[in-house]
Amino acid sequence: MRIVDLRSDTLTKPTAAMRRAMAEAEVGDDVFGEDPTVNHLEEMAADRLGKEAGLFVASGTMGNLVSLLAHCGRGDEIILGSQAHTFRAEQGGSAALAGIHPWTIPNQPDGRLDLEDIKFAIRGDDIHFPRTRLIILENTHNGCSGYPLDADYMAAASKIARQHKLKIHVDGARFFNAAVALGMAAKDLAAEADSVSFCLSKGLAAPVGSVICGNKDFINEARRARKVLGGGMRQAGVLAAAGIVSLNEMVERLAEDHTNAKQLAVGLAQIPGLIVDPDQIHTNIIYFEVKREDMTPQKFVQRIDAAGVRMLPLGPQRIRAVTHYHITSEDIDWALDVISKVMK
Ligand SMILES: *Cc1c(COP(=O)(O)O)cnc(C)c1O
Repeated sequence: MRIVDLRSDTLTKPTAAMRRAMAEAEVGDDVFGEDPTVNHLEEMAADRLGKEAGLFVASGTMGNLVSLLAHCGRGDEIILGSQAHTFRAEQGGSAALAGIHPWTIPNQPDGRLDLEDIKFAIRGDDIHFPRTRLIILENTHNGCSGYPLDADYMAAASKIARQHKLKIHVDGARFFNAAVALGMAAKDLAAEADSVSFCLSKGLAAPVGSVICGNKDFINEARRARKVLGGGMRQAGVLAAAGIVSLNEMVERLAEDHTNAKQLAVGLAQIPGLIVDPDQIHTNIIYFEVKREDMTPQKFVQRIDAAGVRMLPLGPQRIRAVTHYHITSEDIDWALDVISKVMK
């Protein structure tokens, strides 16, 4: 049976080139700093993002937590969006494991934090208050239709951060999707951030891992934080080797995922009972609503699943679809056909 699986870009499997690179990777003990393949990946990633250094970590969740531990002490406060992945979907690890206090601001529909909201959230010097340390921005924004934050916004947010001696961490799980969608070099988009984490294991199709980048002091602290979380891996070059292929071969092609996502959104918008604005789709994530008396998102997803199309129901109304390496334009046509039959 044909399956078109649009639940997530984390479903991507390593390419033949990745499996070859993994099998042939030169390795050493990375806790001793002696794995040449990990070192190469970290240098490459830092170079792509225009930062001094990089650190290979097990996942995006670990990348964000390690970054928070490196930037903040216990009782410090972070400012982040109420739709931020770090706030919603990382088990509150910043509080549970790092003792960090969150101040959430509602995300705008395009994933931004309103600059006035940020200014309002920054604490003054007062014995009653926690100390504001860090602003977290998410790019692209997973919960907000995969919107990319552009360089102008980054510059404006950074200006506020500098004025108040705050740092900016970018949760860039899909940072390269943002750079490709905006048609700019990743390093230009990262210029105003003190740290950026990005996932190799999503649209870039590597089996495991994320990289965080920043200046040398930050990465030294992050390396300590990674170790205490149990993330000091040994011959991790077998994993990093796939990440090197990701950066060399899988970045530019993200544009295809964006084109396919647009095609899906345009098609969904034409099906009665489904609500989506294709103009809001800039990268590979689509949220849409089902508006029909007899159809909940759960029911919709079950029905299309039985016919071979997979998506994720999220909340009482929304459904998420994500395009990725294993999805072709032809798959999208087929999926749209299946969906319109289910909605008849
Ligand atoms: C997926 C994701 C993460 C977490 O990555 P994992 O590798 O699944 O831990 C963090 N932030 C955003 C925005 C994500 O989409």
